Amino acid sequence: MTYQFALVGNPNSGKTSTFNQLTGAKQTVGNWPGVTVERKSGKLRKAKEITIQDLPGIYSLSPYTPEEVISRNYLAEAPIDAVLDIVDGTNLERNLYLTLQLLEMGLPTIVGINMIDLLKRKGIQINFEKLSYGLGVPVVGFSALKQHGLNKLIDAAKKKAGNGDSVVVYDSRLEAALAEIKALLPEEISESKRRWIAIKLFEGDELIRQQVTLTPSNEKELAEIIKITEMIFDEHSDAIIVNERYEFIQQLLALATIKEEEYRLSLSDKIDRVLTHRLLALPIFAFFMWGIYFLSIQTIGTMGTDWVNDVLFGSWVPDILQQLMNQWQVAQWLQELIQDGIVAGVGAVLGFVPQIFVLFFCLALLEDCGYMARIAFVMDRLFRKFGLSGKSFIPMLIATGCGVPGVMASRTIENEKDRRLTVMVTTFMPCSAKLPIIALISGAFFPESSWVAPSAYFIGMGAIVLSGIALKKTALFAGDPAPFIMELPAYHLPQLGTVLKSAIDRAVAFIKKAGTIIFVACIFIWFTSSYNFTFDRVGEEESILAFFGRLLAPIFAPLGWGTWRGAVATITGLVAKENVIGTFGILYGQSGVSETGTEICQVLRGDYTPVAAYSFLIFNLLCAPCFAAIGAIHREMGDSKWTWLAISYQCGLAYCASLIVYQFGHIFFEGGQLTVGTLAALIVLGLLLFALIKRPQQKNSPLLQVVGEVVGGEK
Ligand code: GDP
Repeated sequence: MTYQFALVGNPNSGKTSTFNQLTGAKQTVGNWPGVTVERKSGKLRKAKEITIQDLPGIYSLSPYTPEEVISRNYLAEAPIDAVLDIVDGTNLERNLYLTLQLLEMGLPTIVGINMIDLLKRKGIQINFEKLSYGLGVPVVGFSALKQHGLNKLIDAAKKKAGNGDSVVVYDSRLEAALAEIKALLPEEISESKRRWIAIKLFEGDELIRQQVTLTPSNEKELAEIIKITEMIFDEHSDAIIVNERYEFIQQLLALATIKEEEYRLSLSDKIDRVLTHRLLALPIFAFFMWGIYFLSIQTIGTMGTDWVNDVLFGSWVPDILQQLMNQWQVAQWLQELIQDGIVAGVGAVLGFVPQIFVLFFCLALLEDCGYMARIAFVMDRLFRKFGLSGKSFIPMLIATGCGVPGVMASRTIENEKDRRLTVMVTTFMPCSAKLPIIALISGAFFPESSWVAPSAYFIGMGAIVLSGIALKKTALFAGDPAPFIMELPAYHLPQLGTVLKSAIDRAVAFIKKAGTIIFVACIFIWFTSSYNFTFDRVGEEESILAFFGRLLAPIFAPLGWGTWRGAVATITGLVAKENVIGTFGILYGQSGVSETGTEICQVLRGDYTPVAAYSFLIFNLLCAPCFAAIGAIHREMGDSKWTWLAISYQCGLAYCASLIVYQFGHIFFEGGQLTVGTLAALIVLGLLLFALIKRPQQKNSPLLQVVGEVVGGEK
C-alpha cells in the first residue's frame, strides 16, 4: 500500500528540516505550475511506499498569497492520505491557527509538535495527550534537529491515513449559521468538504464563491444568514471566524500547556523565602531596624540635627533675635522668655526634625517596597503562638508614626477583647515624638553604641508581645485570635515621590506641633521655672516648677532619675512627648550653659548615670502616651474605666521595667550597692515572669474579678 502525505506548516516551524530528515537526499525539486514557488517532494528514506509532498510555509489558508492558494488548492484537490502539520512548539498559539484551518477542511491530520528540545529551555510544558483530545487528532512531539520522534510521527500518520474527522466546534450560534449554509450548498459537494466550504462562504472568500454555484435564492439566503449572524456577534463575518479560532486556541492552550513562569517561584517568592523564614525573619527585621536607627539617629540624621542645634538654634536664631530685641528695646523678662523659654524649648525640639525626616524616609521605603506587609505576616505567626492576632501589628506599625492613628487603626480588629488589648499596648511603640528622647539619651550617654537607639524600638515591641502573652492569660482578654488573612503584595521598587511625601508629612506635622502645643508648653514651663508662688523672678531651684517637681521626684528615685527636672520633664511629656526635650532645653539651658543640644548632653551627663538615663528613656517610652493619644484610647475603649485601666497598666509596666533596668543595671555596670530597691526589683521581676509563664486563667482571680467589675461588669 502506498501513502501520500503532505507536509504543512508555518514558515520557520522546521518543515524543511523535517522534510530533509524524512526523505534524505532523494528529493524531486521543481516549481508549482504557473508560479516560481519551489515544489519539493520525496520518498521516505525508511519506507519507500510513502511519498511526502512539501508545501510552502504558510500562516493561513486564506486566498491572499500564491503560497496559500497553492497549498489550499493542493490540499483540497490532491489525493492525500494524511497531512503532517508541523507546529513550532515554542510558538503554539500562532502555529495552531493553521492547524485549525486544516481541521476545518476535514483533512486527516497529524499534528507534529517540533522543537521539543527547546521547550524545556523556554519553560513550556505541553501535554500532548490533552492537546490531542482537544483537537481530536493525534499529536506527536518530536525534534527535527535532534532527529527524535520522527518515526512516531510517521507511524501516527499511517494510522490516521484516510480518516478525516475532527472535533473542532465553534460557538453554537456560528455553528448554527454554518449548518444553514451547508444546507444551501449544491449536492455534488462531498460531505467532508461541506463544512469547510460553508466556513469559506461565511468568511466571504472570493475564490470559493467563484467555484461554488448557488441558486439566486440560495445566494440571497446566504447573504441573509451572514447578515443576521454578524448582527448577533456585532462583528464582521470574517472577524467572527478569526475570533472563534483564537478562542478555541486559548482554550486548548489553557487545557494542555503550562508556562513555567506561571508556577515558577516569582522573584518576590524567592525573596520571601529568606525574609519571612521561620528563624531568620526576626533577626533580619532587627537588622533592618538597627540600620534605620543607625542612619537616622547615629549618622545622617544626626549631622542635620547637630547643625540645627549648634548652628541654627545655637547661634543664628538667638543672635538675630537678640539683635532685634536690643534694637526694639524689648523688656528684659520678654527677652528671657523668648531666648530661654521659646528658643531653648522649641529649638531643642525642632533640632530633631532631620532625624525624624531620615527615620520616616527609611520606614516609608520599607513600607512602600512591600516589606512591612511581610513583617505583619511574620508577626502574625509569632503573635498567634501566644493567642494574639497579626492584625494587632498594623496599629503598632502605624503607631511608629503617631500613637493617635495607631490606636484608631485598632478598629479593624473585630474581636472586642483583642481590640481593647491592642489599644492598651499599641502606644508602647516609639512614635515620632518619642524619637527625640531616644536620640537625646543615646547621643548623650551612649555615643559609641549603635544599639541603644534601635533597642527602644525592640523594647516597645517586646513590651507589646510580652503584655499580649501575659494579658491573654487573664480572663479579661482570653479568647482565640481573630483570623488574619492578608495578601502579600509583590515586592517592587519604592516610589521616591510617595516615600518623600510620607517623610515630609511627618516632619511638617512635627514642626507644626513644635510651633503650637510645644510653643505654649514652653512658655508655661519657662514661666513656672522662672517665678515663685508670689510671682517674683527667682532662680530655677526656687521656682514653682521645682516645688512640684520635688514633690514628685521621690516617686522616680528608685528608677535612678529622681531629680525634680526629670520628674517635671516626664509630666510635661504627658501633654506631648516632645515636651520632655523642650523641658530639658529650658531647664538645662538655664543652668548657666547655652541651650544647644550638645550642651544639654553635657549637663545631663552631670545629672544622671548612663543606666539612669536609659531607665528614664524606658519609662518615657512605655508610660502613658500624650493627651492626644490618651483621648484616642478613650474614644476606642468607649469608657473611662477602661481608659484608666489602660493608663494604669502603661504607667505600671513602665515603672516596673525601668525599676528592673536601673536596679540591676546600676549594680552590674556602675558598681552600685544592693539596696531595698534591688530587692523590690527582684520581686517585680519575679511577678512579671510569673505573669508570663503561668497557665491561662479559666476563672477570674479574686483580684481580676474586682478589676473586671470595676471596668465594665466583666464576670
Ligand atoms: P521551515 O522554514 O519551516 O522550513 O524551517 P527550517 O527547517 O528551515 O527550520 C527553521 C529553523 O529552526 C532552523 O534554524 C532549524 O535549524 C531550526 N529547527 C528546526 N527543527 C528544530 C528542532 O527540532 N530543534 C531546534 N532547536 N531547532 C530546530
